[in-house]
Amino acid sequence: MHQPFFRSYQRHIVPILQLSILVLVIVSLSYAMFNSFQINRLSKSIINDFNQIYSLSRRFAQYYNNTTSITLEKGIYEKNGVDIMVIRRGEVKILSHGMSKLRTELAPMVQDNIWTIAIFENPAHYSHFSPLRAEYKKRYHSYKPNDVIQRIVKLEGLENTFDQFYSCNIKLSEPYIEEGTDQLIRTVYYPIYNNRMLDALLAIDIRENFIHQMINTFNKDHWTVATTQHGWAAYQHQVVIPCSDAEPITIGFRFLDIFKLTLIPSLFISLFAYLSMIVFKKRQVHIKRDKMTGFYRRDFYEPRLKKVSNFSMLIIDIDFFKMINDNYGYKVGDEVITEITRRIASQIRSDDIAIRWGGEEFVVLFKEMNDEMLHTKAERIREHVAHKPIANIDVTISVGGVALYNDEFCEAYKLADHALYQSKREGRNRVTIHNKHQNTRDYTT
Ligand code: GH3
Ligand code: MG
Ligand code: MG
Repeated sequence: MHQPFFRSYQRHIVPILQLSILVLVIVSLSYAMFNSFQINRLSKSIINDFNQIYSLSRRFAQYYNNTTSITLEKGIYEKNGVDIMVIRRGEVKILSHGMSKLRTELAPMVQDNIWTIAIFENPAHYSHFSPLRAEYKKRYHSYKPNDVIQRIVKLEGLENTFDQFYSCNIKLSEPYIEEGTDQLIRTVYYPIYNNRMLDALLAIDIRENFIHQMINTFNKDHWTVATTQHGWAAYQHQVVIPCSDAEPITIGFRFLDIFKLTLIPSLFISLFAYLSMIVFKKRQVHIKRDKMTGFYRRDFYEPRLKKVSNFSMLIIDIDFFKMINDNYGYKVGDEVITEITRRIASQIRSDDIAIRWGGEEFVVLFKEMNDEMLHTKAERIREHVAHKPIANIDVTISVGGVALYNDEFCEAYKLADHALYQSKREGRNRVTIHNKHQNTRDYTT
């Protein structure tokens, strides 16, 4: 009755595809909503990271102010991995320890994307570089000593930042390619003022890539597909970086990335849901239906019979079935039962209720049939069973019935069973329909 799944797989293709599309739409939309929610968090986290970088840079001023000086001759000195370039003999603050510490403390925000940390002294008779690249040495010598710091202060508008109580006494540059090294970086500038005098300028060069790395790390940690790429953008959000005139960073996600990530899981979900549905349906069928005959199981249907009213009923029992079993074996017996029920099923409608009541006894319920109609139906069933041998055996059935009975099922059953008994007693292969007005009516063939 139910074909195995893989033998009839073609009829499953369309519903599976429909389900997959539906699941894909639902999963993609949910995942897109999740991403847009997470991108707002990412935006806050980027701003927060910049603020962390700024606050660490500001703390450096305190360290700077409390570092004592020593006298050094002109030359290049190396301390704690930091190079100090002394242009003129004089008092020099050794800031290398604080610079290394600053680098370590910035790592959680920028990982290994610190390109250079430099401190330019004002007036510029010495500078700290971590690291001191050959290009810097070359460039430094081509300028007059105060050129570098003055140029930066002017360019970035860092004059009088001490006037600003806390907010933006620090500056983040636009991304730019560093002359000589061709590295794409942004620089955080923090001018250290004391008594309205610029004492030094802290410059932290960060590889521009760090923003992508930040986004990638966020994606890994939060199962998102955030990107700064705009093609086929499904959602975009502008991150305005504090203390910077630079263009806001646009972050968002693309339809394609959402689709790529949800396609395979959606297919799996759909397939799993579909197979579960089939298994569930089959289990439901097994609970309701008898495997051998496809008729309702008595234990499933009997409790429901209390609610059935205004029905007509037939009880069908195979004649001399014990003899078939004894003479031909149980296997042939089973074959006979299966074929008889198939023949009964072919004579009734799909909304008639056929129940395997006992081993070879069946109950069939019909809606609103009078005596005549029920008799005709029963006769047709009987005839259809008897007209052709089954497994080369002439098999017959006896039928008892009751029409349009308004009382309870068990009352009707008793009457129909009585009619069946009459059919048996009167020679089998016959139909007896109980008549409420007269006595039991006997239709003999
Ligand atoms: P009667 O004409 O009076 O009905 O005689 P009968 O031999 O058919 O008697 P009865 O209806 O009492 O027969 C029931 C027999 O059906 C007993 C049992 O061994 C057999 N039977 C019940 N269920 C199955 C089944 O699933 N398969 C087989 N092969 N035999 C079954
Ligand atoms: Mg029998
Ligand atoms: Mg019986």
